[in-house]
Order: sequence, then C-alpha cells, then structure tokens
Amino acid sequence: MDFKIAVIKGDGIGHEIIDETIKILNKIGKKYGHNFKYTEALAGGAAIDKTGTALPEETLNICRGTDALLFGAVGGPKWDNLPGRDRPEQGLLKLRKELGLYANLRPAVMFDELRRSCPLRGDIVEGGLDILIIRELTGGIYFGKKYTESDKAEDTMEYSRHEIERIAHIGFQTAQKRKGILTSVDKANVLETSRLWRKTFEEISPGYPDVTLNHMYVDNAAMQLVYNPKQFDVIATENMFGDILSDEAAMITGSIGLLPSAALGNNYGMYEPIHGSAPDIAGQGKANPIAAILSSAMMLKYSFNLPEEAENIENAVKKALAKGCRTSDIAMKNEKVSTTEEMGDIIALSL
Ligand code: ATP
Ligand code: MG
Repeated sequence: MDFKIAVIKGDGIGHEIIDETIKILNKIGKKYGHNFKYTEALAGGAAIDKTGTALPEETLNICRGTDALLFGAVGGPKWDNLPGRDRPEQGLLKLRKELGLYANLRPAVMFDELRRSCPLRGDIVEGGLDILIIRELTGGIYFGKKYTESDKAEDTMEYSRHEIERIAHIGFQTAQKRKGILTSVDKANVLETSRLWRKTFEEISPGYPDVTLNHMYVDNAAMQLVYNPKQFDVIATENMFGDILSDEAAMITGSIGLLPSAALGNNYGMYEPIHGSAPDIAGQGKANPIAAILSSAMMLKYSFNLPEEAENIENAVKKALAKGCRTSDIAMKNEKVSTTEEMGDIIALSL
C-alpha cells in the first residue's frame, strides 16, 4: 500500500534522528511491501531563516495533503532572542492547533535492558513497564479564560462535553488495542469539569464492553504511578493533569532520548519524540534516535493501522539494546558509545 508522510526535520538533532527514522521506515516498507512517500516541509527555526515565519502556509498545505506527519524537533539558541510570539516553538503549537490534534499519546515503556535507569525499586517494576498516557491537548485550564491585575490573577478550567467525548473515544479505542483497562484520572471530588469528565466517560463506556473503565483522583494516580505502576494500562486525563503525570511516567522509564509521542485528531496524526532539538549535541552524532524511531512505530500503528510492522520496529529497538548498542545518553561508564547512525544501522539490521 501507498502512504503519504509529511516530514519536518526541524532544527538541531531533528535532522539526524529523522534521517535514521526514515532509514527504518524504508526497510520496513521493503519487508512488508509498503510504499512510504515523504514530502519534506519547513517549521521552526529553519522556516524562520528561509521564510520569516515559524509555520509557513505551505507547510500546513503539505501536511493536509498527507496521511501523517513525522516531526523531529524545533528551536535553538540562534532564535532565542526573538520575541515570544515569533519563536520556533510557536510553529509547533500553531501546527498542532491548525491540524486539530487534541489527543496526546505518550507511552512510558521500560526496556528490561535499561532497568538500571529506573528510579523505582526492582520488585515494583519486575517484568518491565508499559503504560500509555493520553493527555487532552486543546482544552482545560491552559485554554480557559484568563485574567490578571496587580494583586489578583485567575485561570479558568473549562471543558465541553464534546471535548471530553472525543478524548474518551480515543481512550477506549486505544485500550481495546491493548490490555483493555482504561483509567480515567480526574479530581471529581472538587472540580465541576472533573464531574462532567467522569459522567461523560461513564456514558460512553457501554459502547466499549471489552474495556474495563476505572476512575482515579489525580493525587492518588500520582502516588500509584510510583507505588504500583503495573496496575495501569491506558490512562486518560485532562490537559494539565496529563502534562504532570506524563512527565512523572516518563521519568520512571529512563532517558528522554527513548520516549516517543503521538498527537492525534480528526483523521490525522503527528508523531514526534518527546525531547527537544538538543542544540548542545546537535551535529555531533550523539543523539539517540530511538525516541524518533519509536514515534514512527506509533505512526504505523495509529495512522496506518499496521500493528505488526510497528511491533517489528519495537522489537528491533529491544534487540539493538540487548546487543549492547548504546548512544551516549544511555551508556554507562566504560561502555562503548555508538553514534546516532550506528544505532540506526543496528536497529535496521534487527528488523
Ligand atoms: P524543548 O524545550 O524543545 O523541549 P529542552 O530545553 O527541554 O527542549 P531538550 O532539547 O529536550 O531540551 O534537551 C534536554 C537535554 O536532553 C539536553 O542535554 C540534550 O542534549 C538531551 N537530549 C535530548 N534529546 C536527546 C536525544 N535524542 N539523545 C540524547 N540526548 C538528548
Ligand atoms: Mg522540554
């Protein structure tokens, strides 16, 4: 089958990690008989330099003409002195909004081979960890009415039933493809938005009889993530709670260079590593391409419905780690350090 992919490499290590990701996608395409067709587009600092704006209209048009977007990272010291609204990061925020990407999926998977980087006690994470956090991305307190005067400020948390319904469906559908356990996290004992959130999840639940829905207060969820993380399969939560819990979950699993993400909306998905453009190591072959490569596996799974191919990539990453391949961010003292390209090659060989 043919699949159209928009590619924004962006700035800093974006180029290096996306080049390795495309190497992996091409090999998967060959193996399974798919044709991935890439169209490169500009965003962030590279777009500012070339066109004067962080998100050129042409980039949006390219994205709209494709099935999914593979994104590297944007930003860097070169553009740090620009006013806030002109910075490269604005290109990313605008892109998500323009493409209607309202669900942020952040898997926190702990690789057995890297268990030493987990700050939790060994018995708590025995047999590994595999949690998927779904964060609502376009509503809640970040986008509600705001108000400031000299000695008083206000942020308003707002959610409509429609916004909750669409993220709930993503939560249930994602749980269906996994272990069938969905934990909805809220603060329904205190917040009106949380009561509507909980009620809406309950109303949608009968449509997914194969998924078990649990509710948990956010303070308890934060505690349970470190006390008994293995009880979780899929967690769905509102914008700010998701922001906090997904960082907590990410930290449990290890390096920032390992974690992928997907931002999903109406029939479109954007896939990117959770890390930034890492200007301190850009161009030196030090970046870990695994987060970007696993983001492409999410693309195969969620945008193209190719779960077997996605699993093949995930297994190849595990095999490369089992073979001892380590970029500098995950290498222990005295371990041989591989370059970005070497890591990509070993993962490709393991497909
Ligand atoms: P942003 O604001 O764009 O999220 P940031 O300021 O949070 O960026 P990152 O670019 O994510 O920062 O980098 C944080 C640290 O992690 C840096 O020291 C960077 O070198 C390191 N880092 C980030 N990504 C990787 C990677 N893929 N491989 C190795 N190290 C990385
Ligand atoms: Mg960051």
